[in-house]
Amino acid sequence: MAPEIEIYDTTLRDGTQGEGVTFSVADKLRIAERLDAFGMHYIEGGWPGSNPRDIDFFEQAKHRTFHRARLAAFGSTRRKDTRVEDDDQVRLLLNAETPVVTIFGKTWLLHVREVLQTTPEENLAMIAETVRFLKEHGKFVVYDAEHAFDGCKDDRGYAVATWQAAERAGADVVTLCDTNGGSLPDEILEMTRHARANLQGRIGIHTHDDIGMGVANAIAALEGGASHVQGTLNGYGERTGNCNLTSVMPIVSFKLKKSSVPEESLGQLKELSQFVDETANLRPNPRLPWVGAAAFSHKGGTHVNAVQKVIRSYEHIDPALVGNKRHVLISDLAGRSNIVMKARELGFDITNQTPELRAMLDRIKVLEHQGYEFESADGSLALLIRKALTPSPPPFVVDAYHVSVRRDGDASVCEAIVKVRVGEESEHRVAEGDGPVNALDAALRAALVRYYKPLRQVKLTDYKVRILDSTSGTAARTRVLIESSDGTSEWGTVGVHENIVEASLQALVDSLEYALTKEVMKT
Ligand SMILES: [Zn+2]
Repeated sequence: MAPEIEIYDTTLRDGTQGEGVTFSVADKLRIAERLDAFGMHYIEGGWPGSNPRDIDFFEQAKHRTFHRARLAAFGSTRRKDTRVEDDDQVRLLLNAETPVVTIFGKTWLLHVREVLQTTPEENLAMIAETVRFLKEHGKFVVYDAEHAFDGCKDDRGYAVATWQAAERAGADVVTLCDTNGGSLPDEILEMTRHARANLQGRIGIHTHDDIGMGVANAIAALEGGASHVQGTLNGYGERTGNCNLTSVMPIVSFKLKKSSVPEESLGQLKELSQFVDETANLRPNPRLPWVGAAAFSHKGGTHVNAVQKVIRSYEHIDPALVGNKRHVLISDLAGRSNIVMKARELGFDITNQTPELRAMLDRIKVLEHQGYEFESADGSLALLIRKALTPSPPPFVVDAYHVSVRRDGDASVCEAIVKVRVGEESEHRVAEGDGPVNALDAALRAALVRYYKPLRQVKLTDYKVRILDSTSGTAARTRVLIESSDGTSEWGTVGVHENIVEASLQALVDSLEYALTKEVMKT
């Protein structure tokens, strides 16, 4: 059954206009495959007329099968005063051999006269002839009306004439683009209604987020009669970005309750969003609506208390619907309820009445006062809770260590010596690294893998240092946060000390200890 609202993804074309976003051809193919598996309706792969990389992408895409999505090549109408058959850029669109071709054309007379430097009549001919040519070659044609709203504000009659020219020539979708991103939702609503009254077929919407209205404007257009939304994952795009599809898709499905991408796919939305960030080598934005790590985080004590009693009291939707999770943030604002919920999230079976709770809370408060923070150090927090609930000897103890740094020619070399005790046995290792923490990590691990094989999988993925204030008159303290991964999950650990190496060692020890007890704690 045809979806009520079609989703058109342009992460691979408009998204790559964004600062810091670059994809290799291989990256683009992997993303396209993920988008297809997700159930995206259209994937715009690139603009073959603008760069060789995109030509290469479409060349390689010919050997792939897309099961759910239709691949689109993007380009423009023919050049002025040229026969469409003779236009190289249009020829490249056919060479891409995609089922869908999307072309953009001018709505705004300012652009027609001053940028294209042609007549209003020639612009209409450029639109109609290009659409007709592509239709004759069997393409499904999406016509992107550039500056549709600015053009409409300027000369309503001419704007409508350009859209109708595309539709009469056979365009399957006429997409209204807020190219400069400066329109307001009520303007978008009114002008989309006007387009709806003057067009027969499907109307699309393509918005940008220049004034923070990208998603709101797309939703307004749906209200006005559009039923095809163009945008990018995570809102990638030029300037402040495109309309964010990671917000649009759940809004369409869960708030507007219209059929669109498969609802079960939305359960993997967070994963998809992260995959794209990782491929672009960008750090996921925790404040992204729906899929950000903070989207369902609770901090204030009363919120947490209420969430514990009635989940929906402080949450607009079940986070699992978009593959996200509820997080409880620990801070000294927090009380008993926060710890209980956090402990449950980490897999401990405790209630507000658990007797060890008081001591646990006091310990956290003391540590937070010293500069520890547990909001991103769930590994350290889990160890702390576990030690309070079921005291047992640690899996290993660092008896001694020594770190040295020396200059050898141009290279600086760090060496660490670590003495570790496991039960009755003692192990002594030396390792080199490109920094003191790296060397310490290598020596510690070398000493421990003999006893604990799973530590081979553990990798240090991030390392952050913050100097805490020294206003108390004592030496400044250093807080080290380490992120680790074993390939299946990630955890953070924390260390605080006047000495950065000591603080790092604490965080490293917690990380490895957590890796060893993680499995035990889950059961
Ligand atoms: Zn755009």
